[in-house]
Amino acid sequence: MILDKFKLNGKVAIVTGSSTGLGQGISLALAEAGAAVVGVDYVPSPDTKKAVEAFGGRFLEIVADLMTIAPIPDIMAKTLAAFGRLDILVNNAGIIRRQDAIEFSEKNWDDVMAINTKTVFFLSQAAARQFMAQKSGGKIISIASMLSFQGGIRIPSYTASKSAVAGITRLMANEWAKFGINANAIAPGYMATNNTQALRADAERSEAILERIPAGRWGTPADVQGVAVFLASEASDYVNGYIIAVDGGWLAR
Ligand code: NAD
Repeated sequence: MILDKFKLNGKVAIVTGSSTGLGQGISLALAEAGAAVVGVDYVPSPDTKKAVEAFGGRFLEIVADLMTIAPIPDIMAKTLAAFGRLDILVNNAGIIRRQDAIEFSEKNWDDVMAINTKTVFFLSQAAARQFMAQKSGGKIISIASMLSFQGGIRIPSYTASKSAVAGITRLMANEWAKFGINANAIAPGYMATNNTQALRADAERSEAILERIPAGRWGTPADVQGVAVFLASEASDYVNGYIIAVDGGWLAR
């Protein structure tokens, strides 16, 4: 039956940036759909763990700083030790630095590119190697952005990093589809999380953004849950290399 194809029972998912925001919402959604979730963040994820365990779900917390790729072998080892396999990777952890392009610093460039792009690729590579070793296929879901399609203002490294996420999502699909691996991305619009706190605090920018969103409101972590479950599930087996916007109509404007 069609709804059974959305179920994730018996699956194991890694979600990065699981402590808050979109990563917390996605962790909860995958767990509700039946997956065991490994939440990776540089701070603990107590709220996420509590919420998952409240409905009898399984959640393993791993504290790791994804600014470098050094923790990746340990993340994979702990996941396999706890749950024995891996089926889904959600590359959600990401940062943004705001500064006029004319003054933009090398540090603001390197930091954002490190976590938003380099770690996304090498964690995906580690997951794909595991999917291939299991001969099971698997799902890679990366969090892209409107800045995978548009230029943005005062965020040059963020725009570069999220445009890169769109590109490597397509590349991974091209190389790994034949192994039953799907690589897709979710491009959230303007969502009310820590990531956009500075933007929402700027009355002028906030009003201009809200006025342009056809849905007439900022998005929430709940808004990305359905797409995340779809892309993590058998229901999306023939969707590959695609970037799905969840933006209240922003790109349609
Ligand atoms: P957020 O800042 O609330 O969440 C980011 C998460 O990443 C947090 O859990 C944080 O602790 C974690 N993180 C940050 N640095 C880390 C590090 N060095 N190591 C490990 N984990 C780290 O913001 P969010 O909006 O939930 O962002 C989630 C993703 O969605 C990001 O990739 C962001 O770029 C993307 N995104 C957000 C929006 C939006 O409007 N909020 C729009 C498009 C894309």
